[in-house]
Amino acid sequence: MQKLTLRFCLPWLVGLIVTACAFFTSGWLVKLDHNIHDRQDKAQVEARINYFSSRIQMALSDNLIIIEALESLLLLKNNIDESEFQILATRFLSTRATIRQAQLAPDAIIQHIYPVIDGNKVIGLDLRKIPEQKNIVERSIESKEMIMAGPLDLIQGGRGVIARQPLYNREGIDTQFWGFITLIIDLDKILQETGLILSDDLATYAIRGSDAKGKQGKVFFGYPSVFEDEYLSSFIEVPGGFWQLSAQLKIDNHVHGIPASYLTGWAALGSLILGLLSGFTCSLLNKTYQRSITDPLTSLFNRQHFREITEIEIQRAQRYQLPLSIIMIDLDFFKQINDNHGHQAGDYVLKKSARLIQSMLRVGDIAARYGGEEFIILLPHSDEVSTQACAERIRKALNAKINLRGAYHTLSASLGCVTLDSSYTNYDQLVSGADEALFLAKDRGRNRVVTTKQLEP
Ligand code: GH3
Ligand code: MG
Ligand code: MG
Repeated sequence: MQKLTLRFCLPWLVGLIVTACAFFTSGWLVKLDHNIHDRQDKAQVEARINYFSSRIQMALSDNLIIIEALESLLLLKNNIDESEFQILATRFLSTRATIRQAQLAPDAIIQHIYPVIDGNKVIGLDLRKIPEQKNIVERSIESKEMIMAGPLDLIQGGRGVIARQPLYNREGIDTQFWGFITLIIDLDKILQETGLILSDDLATYAIRGSDAKGKQGKVFFGYPSVFEDEYLSSFIEVPGGFWQLSAQLKIDNHVHGIPASYLTGWAALGSLILGLLSGFTCSLLNKTYQRSITDPLTSLFNRQHFREITEIEIQRAQRYQLPLSIIMIDLDFFKQINDNHGHQAGDYVLKKSARLIQSMLRVGDIAARYGGEEFIILLPHSDEVSTQACAERIRKALNAKINLRGAYHTLSASLGCVTLDSSYTNYDQLVSGADEALFLAKDRGRNRVVTTKQLEP
């Protein structure tokens, strides 16, 4: 029963294992492919942020050159009047569409602006007294370096960054603060020109670092959430510090454009079909094999398979000098059952006899149907005495009364026993020895056990 369950379950267990293996393998392949795409996307986004950073930096530097030009002129001519400033500013700024305004502020007080917008409000303003600019102005004077302030909302609309260069008197050592040259640069326009957008097919972008404060500065482009989890970064050097341009990869649940959930579903279905096919094939192979070794009527092993097993057991017994015996059984007057009760009754008796024989055997003993109404038994580890005893038990079991179509019939069988020894050394010798003993049993009146020892020399 246990063997049968295992024989039935094993092919489907193989199918289940194949399903699991196929599913995990396909899952692993999808994941691998996804990872490769992920890496490719990452590299692409990295290239994009590097490109945007360098373009932003180039655009800023291109504007800041104007400061250097104005500074050089101011160093030649310590002070300039309004008309001179207007001429200079017009000349320089006409080539830079991203500069919104240039200012000159001797002693940090705005004196000249170009172009003039709300001039009256701005001129005369002390930069150190504008609350939101005070800090940066002081930082700049102290460090003697230009600091990029902002971005701030511009009066003209949009957002701008303020590049403010502190100037020092040339006489002697550059220690005495002269004032500021200031450029207000249109940040929105610069970002627009670089082509940077909030989000594209692969990532969302953001920049932080207002007032050139780098990572400590506020986010002034994109969403702060970009900086929350894993993100890719590139730094933009600006006067007085840097900005951080970062990109966060979009979660892509697609593989080659197909949603990953679809792929998982297909992989599961494919694996299941593969598993079912494997299970079915294994079960078919198993059935075919079982059929090839079994007698269909009695379900005992057939003669060929019995020979294969016995030859292996003979070799083993000879190698380890173990006893081994064979019993040949032939039902007595079986033909009469067929003749008197029909072939179906004969078949029934054959099946019944097979069951009776099987029930008399130990684990390890092997029974087979040898021919029409002949059975053969292999008894490994069994010597002559125990074989004879076993044969006697089988004879008694087969000497049963059975009901055939309402009439009682007493079965009987004759048995011939042979044990492996110097006279019987191989399969053919053993079988013919058992056959001879069986013949003698028939000759002596049937329903008896005869061993080869009882054969006349
Ligand atoms: P003995 O005591 O000498 O062995 O006589 P017997 O009648 O048993 O032996 P015999 O060899 O004369 O007859 C065997 C019969 O078994 C002949 C054959 O028709 C029958 N037989 C063989 N195979 C099958 C089978 O599969 N089913 C049935 N019903 N009968 C079978
Ligand atoms: Mg016979
Ligand atoms: Mg017979």
